Amino acid sequence: MQKIHNYINGEIVAPAAGNYLDNVEPATGQIYSLIANSDEQDLEQAVAAAEAAKNHWGNSSLEKRAEILCRLADLIDANADELAKAEAVDNGKAITFAKAVDIYRSSANIRFFAHAATQFSSESHAMGDVAINYTLRDPIGIVGCISPWNFPLYLFTWKIAPALASGNAVIAKPSEITPMTAYLFSKLCIEAGLPKGVLNILHGTGAAIGGPITSHPKIKAISFTGGSATGAHIAKVTAGMFKKLSLELGGKNPTLVFADCDFEETVNEVVRAAFSNQGQICLCGSRIYIERSIYDKFKAAFVEKVSQLKIGDPLDETTQHGATVSQSHMDKILSYIELAQQEGGTILTGGKRHLMDGRCKKGFFIEPTVIEGLDNQCRTNQEEIFGPICTLMPFDTEQEALELANGTQYGLASSVWTNDLKRAHRVAKQIEAGIVWINCWLLRDLRTPFGGVKSSGVGREGGLEAMRFFTEPKNVCVKY
Ligand code: NDP
Repeated sequence: MQKIHNYINGEIVAPAAGNYLDNVEPATGQIYSLIANSDEQDLEQAVAAAEAAKNHWGNSSLEKRAEILCRLADLIDANADELAKAEAVDNGKAITFAKAVDIYRSSANIRFFAHAATQFSSESHAMGDVAINYTLRDPIGIVGCISPWNFPLYLFTWKIAPALASGNAVIAKPSEITPMTAYLFSKLCIEAGLPKGVLNILHGTGAAIGGPITSHPKIKAISFTGGSATGAHIAKVTAGMFKKLSLELGGKNPTLVFADCDFEETVNEVVRAAFSNQGQICLCGSRIYIERSIYDKFKAAFVEKVSQLKIGDPLDETTQHGATVSQSHMDKILSYIELAQQEGGTILTGGKRHLMDGRCKKGFFIEPTVIEGLDNQCRTNQEEIFGPICTLMPFDTEQEALELANGTQYGLASSVWTNDLKRAHRVAKQIEAGIVWINCWLLRDLRTPFGGVKSSGVGREGGLEAMRFFTEPKNVCVKY
């Protein structure tokens, strides 16, 4: 059976202790590969490699770094079909989605930050004729990047690209649940000529290797994307170590539909916002608030559209809705459907595990599920489910819509659907979220700040924010 190995000091290597975990294909429920379950011995090797590589990489020319990173991006594009298939098998997502979103955006991330590094500049502050201050922005040294399973290669590259482009050596850990594309990526790093030790990829569980990465004294910054509970744990563990921390955490995102929206387009896009990637996107709009005057009409059109989503084998190019990522995640989502009914919700479509024949008969599929009749304060509307479930709720006034939207501990993303220009800006200003989309969803410009407020995180990724995070500013004051 294929083994997924670590990438340390420029080489693909087996874990020191020889321990492996099973890697399950979500669409079939079958083990199809084995994952290195790394431990502190592997981490020490990776840190030693990064330590040896960091100064040379950090002092190399921007052009050189950009050239290598662009080569890596080109290699992703050249291998897009293989990578998309690997992502679909490993994660359960539809292959067409994997290719159009995951893989396309992975190379885009790397290319973007390769160029961003060549455009990045620092400030100077003149003090009249007394002195001049200038800011040096040096790489931090060795940084840790920990990413989740929902966009395995995409979110992995979203972190390591700015970290590498700004001159750091990186220790990265993909999710143990979806390690395959990071493994394939490590082979592309070798092909692209990335110097040894500049990037080290360690596979394994959060407990066995994620924890040691976050608490290693030589790893000076941690960029983490994952659940809010894990983020809180990392914040606690690292509190006394004064590391730089970027935490991109969970979401429970509101979608606000006003009566004056473009109806057809809004229905289509709100379906996409709720169910893309089986609802397993931190940005998915899972709480949908609809102005009462169009509630029934919207509900009917929305439910019809959702019930037409084609559930199927992720490797079938016509599939729109694939498998959820694991048995345990599927069970968690199904338990929330149960809970929603206990809390008084009515299922309008979906609500069950979807059983298939043939290759996928043991797969972890869940029907896209729409629920109405729930109170905003119930657990279904307050807790992140991270699956193909959304709730519909009516509102009467803009103020009420805002109160409902802001009424959770989360504050990652939101979308607002209206043709009233003044209202769009007014609502955007008052929503407690790091991202507000007006009449669109998931439209991404990589230069924009990305991240959440409240329990959705601390810090911002994207564009210059990421370059700033991965560099240490030093003010130099020169007296004339
Ligand atoms: P987790 O928090 O469970 O895991 C995220 C990563 O952290 C994984 O690589 C995991 O390893 C690792 N990890 C787990 N425990 C520790 C630990 N103690 N120390 C260090 N690392 C650890 O999240 P999921 O993978 O389940 O991802 C889903 C979550 O991610 C959702 O809450 C979602 O909202 C959030 N997310 C947020 C985004 C954002 O930009 N704000 C974007 C995408 C997702 P392993 O899995 O191998 O155990």
